Amino acid sequence: MGDHRHVVEELKHNPPRLIISHGMGVDTGAMTHRLLEEPDLIGIPPSQWLVVTAMTGHEIQRTGELMQEFALPMFQQHGVRYAQISRACQDGGYAVLSPTLHPTEMVMTGPWTLGHELTAVGTVPQVTGAKTCSYRSKRQPIEWFLDDVLGAAPYVHLMGYSVEEGKRIAEDRLHTKGGRRTPRHPLAEWTWDRAEAAGYIHHTLGVEWIRSACGFCCYANIGRGINELIHRWTIDPHAAAEALIYEQRALGINANAALFANRTAHDIAREHRLDAARELAEHHLAKARWALYEVRRLYWATGPTTPGGPAGKGPVWRAISKLASGTRDAMHQALTLTADASDARMEIDKHGFPRAWTLPKGDTYPTCESMLAISLDDISDKARDTFEERWFEHTDLAPLRPRQRQLELFPAA
Ligand code: SF4
Repeated sequence: MGDHRHVVEELKHNPPRLIISHGMGVDTGAMTHRLLEEPDLIGIPPSQWLVVTAMTGHEIQRTGELMQEFALPMFQQHGVRYAQISRACQDGGYAVLSPTLHPTEMVMTGPWTLGHELTAVGTVPQVTGAKTCSYRSKRQPIEWFLDDVLGAAPYVHLMGYSVEEGKRIAEDRLHTKGGRRTPRHPLAEWTWDRAEAAGYIHHTLGVEWIRSACGFCCYANIGRGINELIHRWTIDPHAAAEALIYEQRALGINANAALFANRTAHDIAREHRLDAARELAEHHLAKARWALYEVRRLYWATGPTTPGGPAGKGPVWRAISKLASGTRDAMHQALTLTADASDARMEIDKHGFPRAWTLPKGDTYPTCESMLAISLDDISDKARDTFEERWFEHTDLAPLRPRQRQLELFPAA
């Protein structure tokens, strides 16, 4: 896949006046379609638009099919330019995925995917906190791309937020880039909610447009989303299996990493009898290479949660290092051997994953914990530069890795 810089040059030569961030879902689909049917609603002709999508690399297959079958022909018919981009790499930048601004093919995956990042860290998207996944895979690359293409030129930026999304709209209105960017939210201006958008598409195109989201999106199970999630996972068992695999990787090293906070993707797949997805995931996990990791966490303290009370839990720093790799059975064996040699306390956690605690978490903050755990063999060793220094301020337990060779614990794998 090349990075098609000539597309950027073409846009610089003839910059668009109106940008549509197209998430490939119901909302932006309906908004874009209506504006193409009634361009007077926005007052800028389609020839001066640029539709842009940033690919996470994890949409279900049907999303690409719908875009290809319905959106691309519409863009072509109306002379609308369409850029498919993605984040270029972990450090940043964007890649242009299609060699033309009038594509006939969707390119759903770029050189970087959100999964690369999640795999390296051994995590899944989290509902708590900022939407880092979306920010890094969509918003950042689109901003970098637009800054490059548009320079100092002013533009109107349409976002497909429905009338229900008042908070996002209010936040988006603040992003004016010093007056260069004029954000607008046509669906909210028309007082359209998600149902209205879906109804419009169904009425005009005769198709049920599915909600766009990564197969492993943690927001998919919220509210009415559960039915849509089951539908997406049923029609695309590979996407569901991918979610199960990402969750297994994360749960292996963190019992609190269920995809849906208090429910696991596995629970949902089992309850809804998504057997094809479960079999695909288990097949992958059975054949995959696994690893034994040492996972250490340093829990910082915040102020007391009650006046005069004990300190609360602050930020958590994590250091992870791989001790051995091999088959799943071999890593279970390595975990048991290492636990015995290290006098660690063995436990099977609530998700059925084995752990060996070399240092259980204390009851007050700051505190430390250290455990041995197994997961897929693709999580990167990682710790902050100052982790070791700060770790030894709280415990004298040395990491296992330097002692690993002397112990000769691990079976050939
Ligand atoms: S669809 Fe969900 S998982 Fe994917 S980037 Fe957006 S919020 Fe994150």
